[in-house]
Amino acid sequence: MEFKPAVPKEAAALIVLEAHGKKILWARRNPALKFLGGFHSFPGGKVDEDDERCRVENAPNSETARLIACAVRETFEEVGILLVRNGERLTKGQLPLLHDDLESGRNAFSEILEYWGLLIDASDFEFAGVWTTPEFSPVRFETSFFVAKCPDKQVPYAAITELEKIEFTLAEDAIEKWSESKVLMAPPVLNTLRALEDADKPVIDTARFSEICAEHAFNHENGPHFIELNSRLKCFPVRTKTLPPATHTNCYISGGRRFVVIDAASPFEDEQKKLNRFVGSLVEDGNSCEAIIVSHLHPDHFGGETSLKSYLLERFGFDVPIVAHRQTVESLEDKVVFDQEVEDSYSLQDNLGNPFDLSVLHTPGHARGHLCFYDEEFGFLLSSDNVVGQGTVVIAPPEGDMSDYLDSLEKMKRLPGLRSLAGSHGSAVADAIGKIEEYITHRLEREKQILDAVSGGAKTLETVVDKVYRGLDPGLIPLAMKSAEAHLNKLTNDRVLDSDWLRSASANKKLVEFGDSMK
Ligand SMILES: [Zn+2]
Repeated sequence: MEFKPAVPKEAAALIVLEAHGKKILWARRNPALKFLGGFHSFPGGKVDEDDERCRVENAPNSETARLIACAVRETFEEVGILLVRNGERLTKGQLPLLHDDLESGRNAFSEILEYWGLLIDASDFEFAGVWTTPEFSPVRFETSFFVAKCPDKQVPYAAITELEKIEFTLAEDAIEKWSESKVLMAPPVLNTLRALEDADKPVIDTARFSEICAEHAFNHENGPHFIELNSRLKCFPVRTKTLPPATHTNCYISGGRRFVVIDAASPFEDEQKKLNRFVGSLVEDGNSCEAIIVSHLHPDHFGGETSLKSYLLERFGFDVPIVAHRQTVESLEDKVVFDQEVEDSYSLQDNLGNPFDLSVLHTPGHARGHLCFYDEEFGFLLSSDNVVGQGTVVIAPPEGDMSDYLDSLEKMKRLPGLRSLAGSHGSAVADAIGKIEEYITHRLEREKQILDAVSGGAKTLETVVDKVYRGLDPGLIPLAMKSAEAHLNKLTNDRVLDSDWLRSASANKKLVEFGDSMK
């Protein structure tokens, strides 16, 4: 199937500077949000049809007027700051009333401005670039950024649930938090902060801004090819033949001077070339690639490692080992030539014997030999396919084992200092423990539903799936069958379910064969 990127939606965001000082307003997006939940960002959002009706003066054109109106409206909605002329006439008590009118939908923003004699002056705003969400993201925005000063006497607050932890911060402090993996930021936010860091005047130096984008290998018009999750972790998604809704597998480049590449997974030559060139550019900058790791045996996790190895050998003369867990090495014997096997708790070392900031964890359940990777100092877990930011994790017997999977989730949850995680599909997750607990709860609830279905008289796998996964897309039934089978196996092993049930259910219908297409 041909890959078609999502069409970006028009959006605007506002970088609000302190009334007196250099700090800028940022906040954490509610972790429950689908798009970049838990990431730190600026107020902003999608353009709506009323935005073009707002009174905006001194705008160079109607498009800019509409985008500024959007940024102003979103900022008012999310953090209660109203960046308009004549706003000083409003009393402290009136602002919340206006906010309530907007939020409740009683009045459109343009109507509120008109009624109260307010207007937006485009000369209060400085344009700070357009960023488009990269093609690998299932939800995409083309976001125009503007900078403006917070009006005197207005204090931002969490006006709706979308943003939380609202504060003014110095750009350098925000970058330091990101660099130590204490917060997550999307590329436009990170690079805007970088552009602001050195500025001694409270405006974006647009020339410096473009320079920074170039330095960090971003093409901010077509979106970045990779995301820097902290100062030693880069995510470079590559297109793979993975299971929908995912279209890409996240390849991770972990480390600084000495780094490893995890899941150079694309079988497609164009994608392999992009990744090879990117890894090559890191080597040219004086860094060294110490290993190319395959996280597990599913076909959307390997495919480009041999190409990367050959590229590094031909171009730089470095023979970089291809590494995986012993069980992955055995399973992929005919497909990949591995140089090294690793086991649980293996501490990666460079060729001088120095340890890495990354330890290897054997976390089976989704697949035998499945590896996760943990940077304890930064509290950052690479969860591979055990926990993902997009889609669901399939536990498909005989390869998948629900008991092992739940044990692995428990093991991951207990990692010392764990804060954030990133899986092989979708975006990173700021609250790792919350996310893992959500996965565990979901599985246990499902287990209970399956047990209830059996107690309620279900005699075959089909009837269990019918009862438990009511209304499921027919295309997903084979996956549901596999998942139910995994739960039933666990219930039988736990002796909650009599093994005769599974035997007779299997005799009634051959269990679904599901092999190579699994992710
Ligand atoms: Zn997988």
